[in-house]
Amino acid sequence: MTIRPDIRTLTLPQLQEVVAGLRQPAFRAGQIAEWLYRRKVASWAEMTNVPAELRKQLAERYDLHALQQATSKLIPGEAMKFLWRLRDGQLIESVLLKANPALYGQASDRRTLCISTQVGCAYGCKFCASGLAGWKRNLQADEIVEQFLASERWLAGQTDFLPAEAEPTAAETARGISVENQVPKPGRLIHNLVIMGMGEPLANYEALLQALKILNAPWGGDIGARKITISTSGLAPQIRSLANEPFQFRLAISLHGATDEVRTRIMPVNRKYPLRELLAACDYYVVHKGKMITLEYVLIEGINDQLEQVKPLAEITRRLHAKLNLIPYNHVAGLDWKRPSESHQKDFLNALLDRRVPATLRQEKGHDIDAACGQLRLRTEGSITPQAPA
Ligand code: SF4
Repeated sequence: MTIRPDIRTLTLPQLQEVVAGLRQPAFRAGQIAEWLYRRKVASWAEMTNVPAELRKQLAERYDLHALQQATSKLIPGEAMKFLWRLRDGQLIESVLLKANPALYGQASDRRTLCISTQVGCAYGCKFCASGLAGWKRNLQADEIVEQFLASERWLAGQTDFLPAEAEPTAAETARGISVENQVPKPGRLIHNLVIMGMGEPLANYEALLQALKILNAPWGGDIGARKITISTSGLAPQIRSLANEPFQFRLAISLHGATDEVRTRIMPVNRKYPLRELLAACDYYVVHKGKMITLEYVLIEGINDQLEQVKPLAEITRRLHAKLNLIPYNHVAGLDWKRPSESHQKDFLNALLDRRVPATLRQEKGHDIDAACGQLRLRTEGSITPQAPA
């Protein structure tokens, strides 16, 4: 069987080249992009203003594959976890939260989608469900983009996740397009993207950047670069590469340990890129981008929540001029790790605030729906392998 690339691996300029190669006028590429990204169609047949012959020629060269919902879990009005089935039967997750990424769990009228970039993960962080069954493959750019489109298709049929009216996109506003009288439902239903689902995003660097170009473009997802956060476990060389890219995406570092001893215990990646190397790459990123980094720190009882961790954590945060998100550990079935008590979480936070560290404690949503990345997939595949803390 011939495997064709999906049409949504192409940017608009690339689509224009394809259309020109088929001896069609350039505006056809814009029409196709409109069907794909604003109307979010999942078949060639729906592109009714595109000539049938052109659709046929494109369909011979490119797939247009919609993700299939294998299962899902919903907390009405708050969070939705999707388990998507890919073309080859592999499963990935996306999580939709009615929350702002800077304030996960706080009430917000913003909707944030957490997207996966790999099937499984090779990095094996000891507290994470995604790494439990190992790495299967990288996602292609279209599979990253389609998580967003498929989630918006689902949202368009909902009532409790929606405001009274969908918001026009920036491009629609610029063109003076009303959000009424558009079919299917127009406007942007998801406001923020966090690349923090299954997989290490920077280990799938090329496909990630291609997907984000499409999701960021006014003709594509039209999500502003500052509304897109890439999270990494700390791949130092790729952090430097990202600093050299022209994009203004936000960067979050999954730190989770403020000393090499603690970090190596729970994040094997720290053996390859110890804190000295990771922090040097972060310094480079901050200097070259002039942007604030976010540090994520999952609080795990007895592992990294001791008050003596506060001093090195404060030093790292201050060195990077970063902000720090404390995240109470989300229980993963099959793992023995525990979240600290609420009073200890607050003590840890207050000790940081006393040192004038800009830290917040996330009131995490979603643990009722297995929202820690990878859990729903493992549960569905029945492949949980219990692990004891190292
Ligand atoms: S936390 Fe991220 S990098 Fe670590 S195993 Fe999970 S998905 Fe992979």
